[in-house]
Amino acid sequence: MYQLMQRRLSGLVSLPCGACGALVRHSAEPLCAACWGGLYLAADPKPIKLSFTAAGCSWLPYGTPEVKRVMGALKFRGHHSLAVQLGIAMSKALPRPEVDVLVPIPLSPVRQYLRGYNQAERIAHGLHLEWGIPVAPGLLDRRAWFAAKQSARAEADRPKIYGAYRADPDPRWGGIRIGLVDDTLTTGSTLNAAAEECLKKAKVAEVTPLTLAYATRRGL
Ligand SMILES: [Zn+2]
Repeated sequence: MYQLMQRRLSGLVSLPCGACGALVRHSAEPLCAACWGGLYLAADPKPIKLSFTAAGCSWLPYGTPEVKRVMGALKFRGHHSLAVQLGIAMSKALPRPEVDVLVPIPLSPVRQYLRGYNQAERIAHGLHLEWGIPVAPGLLDRRAWFAAKQSARAEADRPKIYGAYRADPDPRWGGIRIGLVDDTLTTGSTLNAAAEECLKKAKVAEVTPLTLAYATRRGL
């Protein structure tokens, strides 16, 4: 009797896993247990150091099928609650950085409109919930005119990345340490360009890169 009731109830609240589509029991959970397990098994935190940044960290290597599936769901299937949950999971796996605010890498306005949210901002929100570090999305902006240009060219066209971002020159940012948050580290050129802008225009003291995943030779 109890089992029958439980089956009926779970049938009412079950929703598909955001990554593999299997029905998960708890409606608040964006991934099934197998997908969470796959992520934790794949996790292999890697230090990040770019020319304009302090030493930061990335959590998941892109090369495994489990990570690829979850990152695909994050970027292309509109799972903004998944991005927050991944930020929370990442914050528990990585050491809390010595930073004053978290700054998400902004999306181009076109992409943000199409996706409905900025996944870097959602990940930063997840990190904030666990670490208690405030998020300052206003510190860094994306130049609107750059969107069309960039979509017309390959993202790997590195020099074009420079000039894509605009940091707020307000003196209140001067001397603070920021954690720059993005979903994926590929060449590092995006993070480095954004870090340079924050250092030179917003006059922040230090930029620590934090990404959910990083590209590997097998991945991306
Ligand atoms: Zn799943």
